[in-house]
Amino acid sequence: MSHAEKSSSVTAVELPILDQPVSHDAAADEGWIHSFETSAGLDGPGLRLVFFLSGCMMRCLYCHNPDTWKPQQGRRMSVDELAQEARRYAPLLRQGGVTFTGGEPLMQVSFLRSALRRMKEEGFHTALDTAGFLGDRVEDAMLEDIDLVLLDIKHWDPEHYLHLTGKELEPTLRFARRLAEKQRPVWLRYVLVPGLTDQSEQIEGLASFAASLGNIERVDVLPFHQMGKTKWKELGLKYELDALRAPTAAETVQAVNTFARFGLHAV
Ligand code: SF4
Repeated sequence: MSHAEKSSSVTAVELPILDQPVSHDAAADEGWIHSFETSAGLDGPGLRLVFFLSGCMMRCLYCHNPDTWKPQQGRRMSVDELAQEARRYAPLLRQGGVTFTGGEPLMQVSFLRSALRRMKEEGFHTALDTAGFLGDRVEDAMLEDIDLVLLDIKHWDPEHYLHLTGKELEPTLRFARRLAEKQRPVWLRYVLVPGLTDQSEQIEGLASFAASLGNIERVDVLPFHQMGKTKWKELGLKYELDALRAPTAAETVQAVNTFARFGLHAV
């Protein structure tokens, strides 16, 4: 059960049954794209064309994109259309690549598999931004088409993780271990939220785990901000983090330094 389902206050928007395979995933060559845009910096190396896939099974309290949660929304697009978009930016993307995010892109795993394959055939670097909960859906062959995984681990303590996301932590850790076994490059992403994810012993626990994996190329500490709040209100959802503040620069540096102490390249 998701956190949203447990909370009596989050009722204004009907949310999908989240742990069932989604029926629209049957056709591998088409999927639901919430939106897409170019970006530079956080979504992988170089300039990226970023596709936001619709649907997410988590309900993170600090989610900046709750408008991506519903599975069948946005634009129905074919793999051909995605490739066409990528070709439009091809000269720039040769120094960067294509990133699939969401939502949770693994909600539409068959479509994602086809899209990744096509991007590799077209010669693009590929990145997958995922919370890892559905990592078991990624077969080894699919992993070969993912040049970089941006893995969001949202908390180190399983209870806190459940409270924060509505889901269990273990599937994400299992996926992280598997990526390490397969020696797939990973950028770890950690959202720093004062009062929720800033406990130093928890960050140390995660840093120690990440360092033990041997495939974490970089750690992004992402300071929490309130910019997603308006979307929650527009969707009629109760936003529970009104009272929280963004971390100070010093607090962010402290978290970065904690990861760095364990030998990780943290920024
Ligand atoms: S996994 Fe991402 S998109 Fe899904 S609820 Fe969490 S922050 Fe939002």
